[in-house]
Formats: sequence, C-alpha cells, structure tokens
Amino acid sequence: RLPTVSLVGRPNVGKSTLFNRLTRSRRALVDATPGVTRDTRAAAVACGGVTVRLLDTGGLTAGGDGGDVITRRTHEQTLAAVEASDLAVLVLDGSRGLSAADRELVDLLRRRGRPLLLVVNKVDGPRQEAFLPEFYELGAEVLPVSAAHRRGIGRLRDRIAKAL
Ligand code: GDP
Ligand code: MG
Repeated sequence: RLPTVSLVGRPNVGKSTLFNRLTRSRRALVDATPGVTRDTRAAAVACGGVTVRLLDTGGLTAGGDGGDVITRRTHEQTLAAVEASDLAVLVLDGSRGLSAADRELVDLLRRRGRPLLLVVNKVDGPRQEAFLPEFYELGAEVLPVSAAHRRGIGRLRDRIAKAL
C-alpha cells in the first residue's frame, strides 16, 4: 500500500491547483468558485524518491457544521480522507493574512492527532511574503508555495517524503 497524503483546507485556497502541480496533470477540476471540487480525487505521485497516493479533497469549513448539506458532506468526506491518510497537508491562503478560520482548522486537525504539514499557497511574490510572519506564529514549520507560479513545489515534495 502506498503512503497516503491528503490535501486539505478551506475552499478556494488552491488545493486542486497544487494537486495538478504535484501530479503534473489537469485531472483535478480547478475553478474560481469556492467549493467546486466536491469529491476526493486520487493520483500516484513521486515525492523525493517516494511514491505516494495523493488525495485532492473538497475542503474543510471552519466549524464544519455551518453551510448547506453539500458543504457539510464535503467537510465530513474531507475529515474521512484525513483519517485515511498518513499525512495531511493543510493548505492555507497566503494571498491574505492568517484568519481566525485558519486557526480553527489548524486546531481541528491537530486535535485529530495525525501528522500535519502546513503549506501557505499563493505566495506568488514579495507582496504575499509580507504575510508569512503571521503564519509562522502557528508554531510549526510552514512551507510557502505558489502552485500557480510553481514556487516551492520541489521543496514541498521533499518535505512530504521527509514527513512520512
Ligand atoms: P481549491 O478549492 O482549494 O481546490 O482551489 P482551486 O485549486 O480550485 O483554486 C482556487 C483559485 O485560486 C483558482 O482561481 C486558482 O487559479 C487560484 N490559485 C491557485 N493557486 C494559486 C497560486 O499559487 N497563486 C494565485 N495567485 N492563485 C492561485
Ligand atoms: Mg478543489
């Protein structure tokens, strides 16, 4: 069985774009509408010499109990993917600062007790780098990437392999 790594986080943070980057495919549906990816997708991907089963999830909503029935189901499906994973990669949106919802999700995932890697996506350039100190306050290693501009992708592969 391949080690399983799930990409989780709030809708629209770039999980599917990152999935496509890591798998070098257009398999995952990317859309600007929050929450467009409802179902979990999987692909085998090479990370620093290790082949992992990568899951693209529909996403988590802070609290998990708000929203419509589909949003709640997506949240539950994503938590199930986390439970089935050897490593959860929490993708945060680096185009804005750390939010209360982000902190809630970090707490929620830490309480699950599964290995967790924090990734800040959309760090396209210096403007977004200015937000990084806020994310460093989460008290864990935080890896800045830009899925759209292919920044930090090699480093992310290495960190995933190291975390397994
Ligand atoms: P998901 O809901 O988390 O799967 O997010 P998507 O992958 O569907 O992306 C949501 C939006 O963010 C899309 O418009 C993407 O083009 C955009 N996006 C994803 N990654 C980046 C990035 O690194 N930089 C910027 N600026 N936009 C990104
Ligand atoms: Mg998606």
